Amino acid sequence: MAPLTPLQPWIAQKIGLPPEGLTRAALEAYQLHRLQATLDLCRAKSPFYRQHLASFPATVKSLADWQALPFTTAVAVRERPLSLLCVSQSDIQRVVTLDTSGTSGTPKRLYFTAADQELTRDFFHVGMSTFTAPGDKVLILLPGDRPGSVGDLLDQAVARLGASGIRHGLVTDVAQTLAVLRAEQPAVVVGMPVQVLALVRSAAARPFPRLKSVLLTTDHVPAAIVQAVEAAWNCTVYNHYGMTEMGLGGGVECAAREGYHLREADLYVEIVDPQTGALQPDGAYGEIVFSTLTRQGMPLIRYRTGDVSRFLPGACACGAVLRRLEKVRFRWHGRFPHTATGFLTMADLDDALFPLEGVLDFSAAVSPAELRVTVQAEEREGMETAVRQALASLPVVRAAEMAVTVRVQSHGLGVRGKRQMTRLPMP
Ligand SMILES: [Zn+2]
Repeated sequence: MAPLTPLQPWIAQKIGLPPEGLTRAALEAYQLHRLQATLDLCRAKSPFYRQHLASFPATVKSLADWQALPFTTAVAVRERPLSLLCVSQSDIQRVVTLDTSGTSGTPKRLYFTAADQELTRDFFHVGMSTFTAPGDKVLILLPGDRPGSVGDLLDQAVARLGASGIRHGLVTDVAQTLAVLRAEQPAVVVGMPVQVLALVRSAAARPFPRLKSVLLTTDHVPAAIVQAVEAAWNCTVYNHYGMTEMGLGGGVECAAREGYHLREADLYVEIVDPQTGALQPDGAYGEIVFSTLTRQGMPLIRYRTGDVSRFLPGACACGAVLRRLEKVRFRWHGRFPHTATGFLTMADLDDALFPLEGVLDFSAAVSPAELRVTVQAEEREGMETAVRQALASLPVVRAAEMAVTVRVQSHGLGVRGKRQMTRLPMP
């Protein structure tokens, strides 16, 4: 049996129970109580929510009542962020501006108080303890220059564990990061999947360092990247799921590595039908919607993430009463319909292309009839053919008889982070 996730005793204590005393009923009673407190706060202090909730009940007597409340969408965070605030701007310690690559123009803005940031630090501390021990060195391949940035909070959290963080920042030069890896010999590395893959697959990757654990963090972590990193570094890879709107952290895998356990004392998560908004039963796929339970600066009520997942049925092998969210595979608006029943997502392309030895990254552009993929790869004979075959084997590509164009680029390999499919203009 896998060791119990450290999130469980932490959450028990956060809600006023002894560490071993958590039950589902106690957690849900706490969540209902905190949802009411969030609702009261938003109605009292946020001009947006005062208006948004004006025609809805001010009291929730059950979790089912919560489903009657309207969703909050990214539009509000983009267009009226200040009206979502429940504190004065002087109480805000950190503002995160999320540049949206491309279309909509206005970036999202998220505001956090010092207490809100402490909640994140606390979660990182406990989450990291799943696979980090006192004395370990932790190489942090995430931005950490600014106070309150993800790398900064993570470094402080790691220090609380008695481990020592190395603030590296994003990988911009693979050779330089490999040199740091060899010089510092960390036990743990935290980074984004494609960035860590570049360290494993670059021409200079060998001899491989030996690590204990790697945490990959982003919306979707391709299984092929997990396998490539584990095989190269002889380590165990864990996934983290989170987004800035969640306060950077959302959930992390336990040693069983079968879904993320969520920070359920800080977030109330629902899965809803993306089209009707109706709550989905456990086990059914839908859009992840969350409400904040403890946030002060910019609480969110039923925020639509756009990410698609489901609650895994049954208990976790670690014995936790906490729920498990299945790994997120795609965003609702990031899927491309092609046939009556099929659609193509970045995760499908990830699963087809990352198993190919030498593939570092790729970009894709798609229309109903065409798929254009540019692969970044170390020079290798037969790469283009292998990529073409991998793409042609995808059921949607076959069913829609899509024309596939492949380009392999092996010069000037850049290292990127989050990737997106773009839409080709309609002919
Ligand atoms: Zn577990």
